[in-house]
Amino acid sequence: MVRDIITKSLGGTMLTKEEIASLFKVPLFSEESAMIIAASRKKSESASGGSAEVHAQVGLNIAPCPKNCAFCSFAARNKVFTEKIEISVDEAVQKAQQFETDGANAVFVMSTADYPFEKFIDISQEIRKSLHSETILVANVGDFTKEQARKLKDTGWRHLEMQEKSVCH
Ligand code: SF4
Repeated sequence: MVRDIITKSLGGTMLTKEEIASLFKVPLFSEESAMIIAASRKKSESASGGSAEVHAQVGLNIAPCPKNCAFCSFAARNKVFTEKIEISVDEAVQKAQQFETDGANAVFVMSTADYPFEKFIDISQEIRKSLHSETILVANVGDFTKEQARKLKDTGWRHLEMQEKSVCH
């Protein structure tokens, strides 16, 4: 049955909800699971024309984050980071430029959820100015309002990624 579903998908036919659900039930370490992975690889390679993207991330700060998402090493309750460290505008610009020089086509700029929004905007402006216009910037920040989203967009962000939900436009 899994083999039939894979053949159907590779043939370009949309899978039904039930078929997709049945793929999620396949045990991880099984022959069928390996077949799904190989088919996924084939599909993504054909969708992207065989090209890949290189993404790199500049972290503006390291600090215990009060949002406390259980999975995250920055969560205060996980006690991985106990000190607050921030990098300067110049350091952020230099790191982003280095990533671009090294071949990154998208640069994520990340901060913990309590990092001041205005400061993020100020540094973003400097980073945007220093990179080629075709280099995509992705803001990986805490929750933001509609107004803040507009401000990020005006600053030159093409992708906004909230830490608890994602918005791309
Ligand atoms: S908001 Fe982001 S940085 Fe903070 S704990 Fe959650 S995932 Fe980590």
